[in-house]
Amino acid sequence: SKKIVIKIGSNTLANEDGTICRDFLQNLSKQIQFLIEEGKQIVIVSSGARIAGVSTLGKWMRKEDMHYKQALCAIGQVELMDAYRRVFAVHDLHIGQMLLTREDFSDTNRTLNIRNTLFTLVDESVIPIINENDTVSVEEIRIGDNDTLAALTANLWNADLLILCSDIDGIYDKNPKVHKDAKLIEEVTNIKQLIKTIEIGEVNDFGTGGIATKIGAAKTVNDYGIPMILANGKKEDILLKLLEGTEKATVFLAN
Ligand code: ADP
Repeated sequence: SKKIVIKIGSNTLANEDGTICRDFLQNLSKQIQFLIEEGKQIVIVSSGARIAGVSTLGKWMRKEDMHYKQALCAIGQVELMDAYRRVFAVHDLHIGQMLLTREDFSDTNRTLNIRNTLFTLVDESVIPIINENDTVSVEEIRIGDNDTLAALTANLWNADLLILCSDIDGIYDKNPKVHKDAKLIEEVTNIKQLIKTIEIGEVNDFGTGGIATKIGAAKTVNDYGIPMILANGKKEDILLKLLEGTEKATVFLAN
């Protein structure tokens, strides 16, 4: 696969105290530099704006207030991109920010503009970093989670592969954080069948997606003929190991 969309979840990006994990970003940029030298094209979809906003202000108030959440994202998005920019610059990589909304994927003109911008950035070996534009997206019309955003992006860009980086090795038959005996499902060819056989556990504080949206993302891209991998982004060199086939994960094969 040449064109790869990589989604970074907030649990992967942030330390337990909510600060951005520099070690993770350093390892990510090293891997991406390697992949680009190999001729791959990379687009990143990154969560973590809200968690970065919270850790910047050092407080978390009025948790359910929508405007407060949006304000936190506005603050955190800058911190997030600053962290990416600094770390990626060490590997001579430039980044470009794209903030998208649901309408951007349903309006032909907007879709065309996004696609052209993506192709231009990638042609120049700049890494696009995409996130939802939280400032303009009120609850009712939000995409709402970056698993879905990453899947829509993969389809729009005609990617060859979507990789979701989370804090677990893949889909298990039950929540591995709760059940020690949970079993990893390494290959999924039938999503309907999968949903019937697994237990979908709770989502934590900052993860807005959870396993359900990850399975939804797999369906969205598989329908377009694009395979998806759900993997543990916390593991060192995970992308390189996945592409070498030396690390376990869940692969959703496009049918
Ligand atoms: P991210 O921030 O990476 O998008 P989420 O927190 O939204 O991650 O979703 C991943 C979490 O889903 C895991 O940490 C795990 O605790 C939980 N989970 C619930 N059920 C399952 C399951 N059947 N298999 C794997 N993970 C599950």
